[in-house]
Amino acid sequence: MSQELFCIFGNPVSHSKSPLMHNLSFQGLGVYACYTRHLLEDGTKLKETFFALRLKGVNVTVPHKEHAFNACDVLDPFAKKIGVVNTIVERAGLLYGYNTDAPGFLKAISEFENIKTVLFLGAGGTAQSTSIILRDEGYDVSLLNRSEARLEKYKEEGFETYTFDTFSPKPYDLVINMTSAGLEDENLPAPKELLNTVIPTAKACVDVIYGKETPFLRLAKSHKKPTKDGSDMLLYQGIIAFEHFTQNAYTFEQIEVYMKKAFVL
Ligand code: NDP
Repeated sequence: MSQELFCIFGNPVSHSKSPLMHNLSFQGLGVYACYTRHLLEDGTKLKETFFALRLKGVNVTVPHKEHAFNACDVLDPFAKKIGVVNTIVERAGLLYGYNTDAPGFLKAISEFENIKTVLFLGAGGTAQSTSIILRDEGYDVSLLNRSEARLEKYKEEGFETYTFDTFSPKPYDLVINMTSAGLEDENLPAPKELLNTVIPTAKACVDVIYGKETPFLRLAKSHKKPTKDGSDMLLYQGIIAFEHFTQNAYTFEQIEVYMKKAFVL
């Protein structure tokens, strides 16, 4: 039996935790496979690169998730609905596409109880898939973004959308930073005065950024709110991708035992 090769495509990709997460799981579960990383500069070459490297499956990160969608021969219904693919598996020469970010995110916030209304700070690519899965699950999602342009498609989809100028505060159960503010800087995702009107009435605050305490989470903690960063989202999207890679040969819990070790090393 030949060893199966998996990979993450992205640009940049050197920072990605995915090789560690998947290799720990392959090793722990005794799967004869290996996971590496590939800097993909031209997203239109995704399919030919996949076959040239003789891969069995890939995860796809920024900025190629829409190219990944276009590269697939068969799409999972949810990935088809949102137009974004982050996991591809080859079967009999065809590429099957999935989105695992959104179900990973959904599971990550499931620990917060009695949540109905959710305010997203930000309206980029991550907000796209997660807003739709949350709405499908019965949450009422509103989006607040720095600039108007990205809100257009959400407005067309029937979401309540606001810019900082048009926002008038009301209570939300969960406030989530979906922006990259705080990732490589010390910025808040929205003006502090505005955040100070929505955080006090929230049951909890979540940030999709992981591995650091962002200014947003610090502000939420100063209001004594329960908080959570993006680590579980990253872990859970990886576990769901691994389930696809191994055709559900292992349970979520079996994979989690090994994959979560990537977060304590
Ligand atoms: P995009 O580039 O698609 O969107 C960026 C969003 O952030 C836009 O809404 C943009 O607003 C907003 N933004 C950026 N800087 C600021 C700022 N200084 N103040 C206010 N708003 C700002 O990014 P993604 O959706 O791909 O990623 C968003 C975040 O999600 C990143 O931090 C990324 O690391 C994280 N992420 C985490 C994952 C996980 O597993 N935990 C998985 C995927 C992403 P505007 O429209 O005005 O430019």
